[in-house]
Amino acid sequence: MSTPSAESHFDVAAFYAFSKLPEADLKSISQRLQSYAQELSICGLLILGQEGVNSTVAGRREKIEEFLKFVAELIGHEKVEAKWSQAPRAPFRKFAVKIRNEIVTLGKPELVPNLQDPKNRAHRLSPEDWNKTLEEEEDVVVIDTRNWYETELGKFKTAIAPDISEFIEFPRYVENSGIPKDKKVLIYCTGGIRCEKAILEMEQQGYENVYQLEGGILAYLEKFPNRQFEGDCFVFDHRVAVDQNLQPSGRFGLCPHCGQPSTKHIECVRCDTEMLICAHCHDSGDQSLRTCSKNCAHHTRLTPGKKGRAPAPQGLRHGQ
Ligand SMILES: [Zn+2]
Ligand SMILES: [Zn+2]
Repeated sequence: MSTPSAESHFDVAAFYAFSKLPEADLKSISQRLQSYAQELSICGLLILGQEGVNSTVAGRREKIEEFLKFVAELIGHEKVEAKWSQAPRAPFRKFAVKIRNEIVTLGKPELVPNLQDPKNRAHRLSPEDWNKTLEEEEDVVVIDTRNWYETELGKFKTAIAPDISEFIEFPRYVENSGIPKDKKVLIYCTGGIRCEKAILEMEQQGYENVYQLEGGILAYLEKFPNRQFEGDCFVFDHRVAVDQNLQPSGRFGLCPHCGQPSTKHIECVRCDTEMLICAHCHDSGDQSLRTCSKNCAHHTRLTPGKKGRAPAPQGLRHGQ
């Protein structure tokens, strides 16, 4: 893959689209996406399934726009909308397509037929309406549908963070939340796709007044940096997180033990190297995780308390 010159940058587009795709076609769609991405020098990850596509890609803006047209055509849509941000370096090593049962996993395939239901369009708030609601209405509950390691980096000021590890835990969270069914509830996620399913799940549980942020945090920050959203937004590529201006935040790496964003400063108990690890590994009480690397963790488990040399530096791990 050719890379843009040093003074330029990568444009990054996050997008999804629901569409009914026959299982028998997925392989050939995947191959066509793969070869076209290569032709356009685009890197990224695209999740493909019978319910549509979910993807983040990076490259030159005009090439990505070509690619989005191609995707739209392949899945029978007029247009595919993207949320844009930037990266100084390629945030993916290559372009890959993964075929999955669900393009965002809630574990509720029975909701899928409703994803195209036009009545749901009424329950989308544009970034403008979302911001107005947060700034002017008081009697609303705001729920962040993302995972704990995402909300830890940043969230809307008044939002409840459910402390889930995977989206698949969201339905149970709602069941146990005790939020009154008639309450006005606002939900959001990174780019909007999780809310497409979360809203249907909540409606099925009897919530009638649920609204989703169209385009998610990424679309909101395009219009309203430094307003109701605080901190950084976790993204699923090498950047780990973007800041209020949708630039790589640069403040987070990935935990050497589990791959989640790391926010806690430690000195490795074995080799004294300074390192950031994630809050969960940090708070686990396991001394072998108070280490700079899998290598030091391994040796600490074998011979607790023994000091040793720092391992050779390693490359960045893949986020998700
Ligand atoms: Zn960890
Ligand atoms: Zn170490």
